[in-house]
Amino acid sequence: MTIFLTLIFAAVLGVLTGSIVNATVLRTKAGLPLMSRAKCLSCVEPIHWFDLIPVLSYFLLKGRCRRCSAAIEWQYPVVEIAMGLLFALFALRIILGLGIPSYITGSEQGILFIRDALLSVFLVIIFLYDFRFSVIPDKFSIPAIILVVLFNCLLGASTFSMLLGGLALGGFFSLQFLVSRGQWVGGGDIRMGLLMGFLLGLPLGLVSLFLAYVLGAFGGLVLLVSGHRSPQSHVPFGTFLAGATIITLIFGPLILNSYLALLY
Ligand SMILES: [Zn+2]
Repeated sequence: MTIFLTLIFAAVLGVLTGSIVNATVLRTKAGLPLMSRAKCLSCVEPIHWFDLIPVLSYFLLKGRCRRCSAAIEWQYPVVEIAMGLLFALFALRIILGLGIPSYITGSEQGILFIRDALLSVFLVIIFLYDFRFSVIPDKFSIPAIILVVLFNCLLGASTFSMLLGGLALGGFFSLQFLVSRGQWVGGGDIRMGLLMGFLLGLPLGLVSLFLAYVLGAFGGLVLLVSGHRSPQSHVPFGTFLAGATIITLIFGPLILNSYLALLY
């Protein structure tokens, strides 16, 4: 029963956080202050509190503004539900003790949850922002790097592994940046590499990088075939990097172990 309640609590927290993530992405793009009152993007009328309940309001309103009937972006419920599931997974992982980094002691599990929850906020923002607006804003990637370093030091992660991860992944993108004179990757990708490397260390950082390329290849194909992108258009690689990082954060040790089991 306690486990069930813990998962429900984590999921509700995730759904509410998803609401904040949606608002942050769309308000940052529109240049609006983050803490302003919610308004319809079409009729600019303030939205009542009872129409702002995450997930529920979208379905009760059938995806339309109560006043002007303009369509509400489906990004809202999708991100809210996804973050609810994500937070529940972070909690479940701790409850089951699956794939917990070896440097985490029993009393640090709460801090691990906070780190992963907080980091996933930045990663989902980057995921959405690059997908929709083709840029990884520094105002999200740099604070995330600082948070990762602070949390990992607090949790006693190996400094060596962290530095090696940052060097390997940050270096990987820096090299491509230098060779192509900024044509293949941008500065945002270098900062994403640092974030992933510091967060996951080695070898998990490499797992996430590999996963990002696999997701990128599949995702790029799906976007192309479905007509969402043309062959010439920008591939939102930051989206795949952020997605791969979240997957590795949860399933990385399991992926790595099953891969190693195949080898031996
Ligand atoms: Zn409206």
